[in-house]
Amino acid sequence: MHDVGLRRSKHRESAVGEVEAWIEVKVAGARILTSEELARYAARSPVCGWRIPITLRIGRRFLDLIILPEFPRMAPRVALVEVGMDPNATPHVEEDGVLCLLDDMSSVADDDPLRVTQHVLESAQSLLERFSGGDVDAEFRREYLTYWARDSSKGAAPVFSLLRAAEGTRGIVAWAGRNIVLVAENEEDADHWLRHRFRDLDEKLVFVAGALFWMNQELVPSEFPRSRQQVLALSDGDRVGRRSLMEAAKACPSELFIVLGCNSGDAVCFTSVSLRRPPHLGHGFRPGERWRKFFAFGSAPARRHVLRIDGPWIHGRGKDERHSRLAKTSVIIIGCGSVGAPTAIALANAGVGSLTLIDPQVLESANVGRHPLGVADVGSYKSKALRNRLLSKLPHMTDVVEHHEGWQEIFSKNPRLFESADLVLSATGVWAEEGALNEWHVGSGRKIPVLYGWTEAHAVAGHAVVIKGSGGCLRCGTNSVGVRRFRVSDWPDGLERLKAEPGCGGLFQPYGPVELMSTIGLVAEMALDALLDDGQSKSSFHRVWSAREARIREFGGSWTSDWRKTVGDNERGSQTRELEWEARSTCRECQ
Ligand SMILES: [Zn+2]
Repeated sequence: MHDVGLRRSKHRESAVGEVEAWIEVKVAGARILTSEELARYAARSPVCGWRIPITLRIGRRFLDLIILPEFPRMAPRVALVEVGMDPNATPHVEEDGVLCLLDDMSSVADDDPLRVTQHVLESAQSLLERFSGGDVDAEFRREYLTYWARDSSKGAAPVFSLLRAAEGTRGIVAWAGRNIVLVAENEEDADHWLRHRFRDLDEKLVFVAGALFWMNQELVPSEFPRSRQQVLALSDGDRVGRRSLMEAAKACPSELFIVLGCNSGDAVCFTSVSLRRPPHLGHGFRPGERWRKFFAFGSAPARRHVLRIDGPWIHGRGKDERHSRLAKTSVIIIGCGSVGAPTAIALANAGVGSLTLIDPQVLESANVGRHPLGVADVGSYKSKALRNRLLSKLPHMTDVVEHHEGWQEIFSKNPRLFESADLVLSATGVWAEEGALNEWHVGSGRKIPVLYGWTEAHAVAGHAVVIKGSGGCLRCGTNSVGVRRFRVSDWPDGLERLKAEPGCGGLFQPYGPVELMSTIGLVAEMALDALLDDGQSKSSFHRVWSAREARIREFGGSWTSDWRKTVGDNERGSQTRELEWEARSTCRECQ
């Protein structure tokens, strides 16, 4: 038995006492459960319980009320006893007879244990009343995946699905290996995903045909296919389904995967059954007979759980149309350091489909404390290690390309790469690179947005500037050595180490990596705004984040008069502002 000490509430005894007093006085015919009776619920570590009579339309029956160690933070459980209903034919009943009334995680009022107990008993009574009236199937369908999972064959691995959440019976492909089963609409999708997921796959992959049956509604447990004939019967009256199944069975080398799809609630849901090829199928039969034999002989079907791993599901549970827009976008990230790399990950998580990562540097151990890559990647090119990280995390991404060279070398080889992107993001903090990028951007007519992200000394402030078709260019807001005209922090000579150690000198303090997250959030959000063009200004603009002034003073700095003018005298808390990035009439780049 595991120790339940931490689950025990100090209020439990008085709460149990309150319930006990109520039962003694108000519930005629109730009695305390014996330890033998409680043993039925041993997996829940019950503390105590009562057997309680209830009156249903079909007559007087009994329920067990069970107090768990977490009571009163967790509601008591109610189990079905001698109710004359088969637990396997009654929805919302777990294997030990306990009714699923409240989600285990749902919070209950811990200061009124009696009311919670009464509510649980009333819910149990009304649930049983409904089912004794025969309205069982609707409940089973509502909880289809739960019952399917409970009923799934022990030891059968789940099936990973790249299938589109689209209606309709159709042929699909399956791949089994590396301890997974993958199903997809076609070989190309499956191959693309597998080579991203398993970087060392270099052999030609062999796919097998499978079938997807679209059903009008969820199955209830009594309809779950338990024999090969029942699997075949799923395609009765469905010519496309029968033909897909026939083709797949004829070509099946070892195991046939069938996916069952339907609409459930407001989402598409998939389950799967698989059939092993019968051992003696042989070649002696005519092909027309062979597929019938496939469904007549052999082991029972394995019922499997399906895990959707397609992009729309992973990024938005298939519910946000912005995902399909982001999935088509392509972003170039110049500089995969402490701002660029986490921003790349944030954009990939948000659903951006294609990334080009550019950084000529290898990861040093000194970078690790403020970089998403770790010691295992020290000595590898940042761009390459980040690419591998992203593709194994999100193998459905359209593409992640890496170049471990400077952006100008890449540009000279393939200038069209930059023109065809939806956004270029520069996070190098190196003026030689960014000044050149701005020169190209202005010269090419500023057709796509370019976003620059950087931090100030000690990471006490962060900036994101997006340069668009109108408004200032990057040079409009910088002096001739790239120093930004608008700054948050002022430093006496010698305290601003940023100049001596470009891009990272500000981070050697414990809050550095933490405060950096605000800048990363600022840059990533601005990138998404630019890609989705959500009510954003058509002109260049600037977002600034600043730590509390006290943090800046800690390092001997102070707020600039520009920033003080922007935020006023409110020195408490960190702050974010959005500002114009204005064109400067004397700019040597754009005027
Ligand atoms: Zn300019």
